[in-house]
Amino acid sequence: MCLHQRLACKCGRNEAYLFHRDDILPEKVVINLYCPECRNQADWDDTTMIEDVGWIIEYDIEAAKFYIGLKGVHNLINNLITPEFIFDEDYCSWYGMSPKDLEENARVHQELFPLQKKDKLSYFNELKKRRLSQFAELKRAGWRKAQNI
Ligand SMILES: [Zn+2]
Repeated sequence: MCLHQRLACKCGRNEAYLFHRDDILPEKVVINLYCPECRNQADWDDTTMIEDVGWIIEYDIEAAKFYIGLKGVHNLINNLITPEFIFDEDYCSWYGMSPKDLEENARVHQELFPLQKKDKLSYFNELKKRRLSQFAELKRAGWRKAQNI
């Protein structure tokens, strides 16, 4: 089971879909979420925060160490559990490639639904084409999770 949550940012003007790999970290491990419009309210601290294309996620690092340690997933020295580690290992990061990737995906599926009914093969080809062009766009925009694809 992988938990995911939809979280509003600090100013409430935007929201993001967050993914929690294997349900190890609880929702409350995210202390704050800042969108590009409210990121200036964040008191930047690289020991608890990660930045991605203008968004900032602030983690409760002590809680993260506790829960990851509890599961015994990694025999890591505690100080290796950093915001980058939590994000890159998907313990708590965007659902998909960006805060809105899940929504974007749902929109594409909805758009292609009539085609799915009509012609399965064209549907899969079109889906693949759209997804690849989305990935290229996300990569160009600099999203961290899109850099290695
Ligand atoms: Zn905001």
